Amino acid sequence: MSKYEAVIGLEVHVELSTETKIFCGCPAKFGGEPNSHVCPVCLGLPGALPVLNRKVLEYAIRAGVALNGHIAETSKFDRKNYFYPDLPKGYQISQYDKPIVEKGWLEIETSEGVKRIGITRLHMEEDAGKLVHQGAANLSGSTYSLVDLNRAGVPLCEIVSDPDMRTPEEARLYMQELRNILVTIGITDGKMEEGSLRCDVNVSLRPVGTEAFGTRTELKNMNSFRAVQKALEYEIERQAKVLDEGGRVVQETRTWSEERGVTLSMRSKEEAHDYRYFPDPDLSDLVIPREVVERVRAKLPELPAARRTRYQEVVGLPAYDAGVLTDNLDLARYFDEAIEGSPNPKAIANWLMGDVAAYLNANKLALAELPVKPAQLRKLVELIDADVISGKIAKSLVGEMLKSGKDPEALVQEMGLTQISDDSAIVEAIRAVLAAHPSQVAEYQAGKVKVIGYLVGQVMRQTQGRAKPDAVNRLMAEELASFKA
Ligand SMILES: [Zn+2]
Repeated sequence: MSKYEAVIGLEVHVELSTETKIFCGCPAKFGGEPNSHVCPVCLGLPGALPVLNRKVLEYAIRAGVALNGHIAETSKFDRKNYFYPDLPKGYQISQYDKPIVEKGWLEIETSEGVKRIGITRLHMEEDAGKLVHQGAANLSGSTYSLVDLNRAGVPLCEIVSDPDMRTPEEARLYMQELRNILVTIGITDGKMEEGSLRCDVNVSLRPVGTEAFGTRTELKNMNSFRAVQKALEYEIERQAKVLDEGGRVVQETRTWSEERGVTLSMRSKEEAHDYRYFPDPDLSDLVIPREVVERVRAKLPELPAARRTRYQEVVGLPAYDAGVLTDNLDLARYFDEAIEGSPNPKAIANWLMGDVAAYLNANKLALAELPVKPAQLRKLVELIDADVISGKIAKSLVGEMLKSGKDPEALVQEMGLTQISDDSAIVEAIRAVLAAHPSQVAEYQAGKVKVIGYLVGQVMRQTQGRAKPDAVNRLMAEELASFKA
């Protein structure tokens, strides 16, 4: 293996799904005509005063509690001064030395087992606007830029991890688990493609067995789990090569190019480092009573880790299934409803992760758009377990259900799919098959017993899969024996 160990930390920006922005009443929702969701406060016009959105504070506390963090008793907002054209005030309202949350953690399930990742801090801040570069795909080559301030003032939580991750896989799992928790507690929609979750990654290498950190680089604006993992894999290899060749890693900000599969230098750290912070005089200090924290804690829903444990220990699913179902909150909720009162939750999980997931993928549908209700899926499994239909029939039945949303029982009647449990009907089919295949019967009688599989297949075909295979096997052997006699 490599003689280096990677030290990885993540900074994740989470857009909170509040109705309005963090310091004004403008809508916080994604999109809209450029500069239509703006007012003097979020435009930073002189004399406009920010007022903190209560919901943002509540969401930040909720996230802090869900991430096992300490919620500050007093906290405040600061101005982070820097100039960029998408930031109309010339400063961003953020939190510096008294963030709302410190010292939390979450757990990830790696291929080596459960690992706890520390969270250094979580703070609230406002988002900046967006520059739209004209005449090119990005800044380089564009002739001019337009600014859209709809996003300016949209509430964010920035969550900074401890440098506890050692592999690209751990970083991806951390990001997935974090997203999962935040979506579960209802503070963000978690849509990475709309920028609701953005991630900067710090990574450095050090010789295995040493403690001191090496020089790190920062990878900016990773917006998919795959990008986090791929960019880190590339960057770790790049830094190892620099060190192997006796060079020094330069502290800098790099960007991941998805198309080229490489990280590229954006700027060296020196120029960007020196933000000046000072307390925002327009916003008063926050005092957070302990009973507010306890009230938020008491109202937390079941978190992903607890759900995974329940699926394994109470519902009886394998770890893999528990992970897949928990990874998607809608899926988990659907599953919970589907297994109510069911003696066979594993079969329900199989249908959900198999045929249902494939159908949703193929048709680019969300679970909410699925016409099949959880209770209908439960009913399907009941029909199979009660031997009313075979597993094979169920496969075509579920296809119909997914398209029409009809009840499985109604479809079974409509399509004439009930299993043939009457032996005499099966015997009749067997006799017809034997009569139609004299040469195979002769082969069987000459000792080539394997040919029975072919004959059974013919019976299944003739009965359109409605005969029970074990009954066909048993009766076929009997019929062949009497045929011989
Ligand atoms: Zn506004």
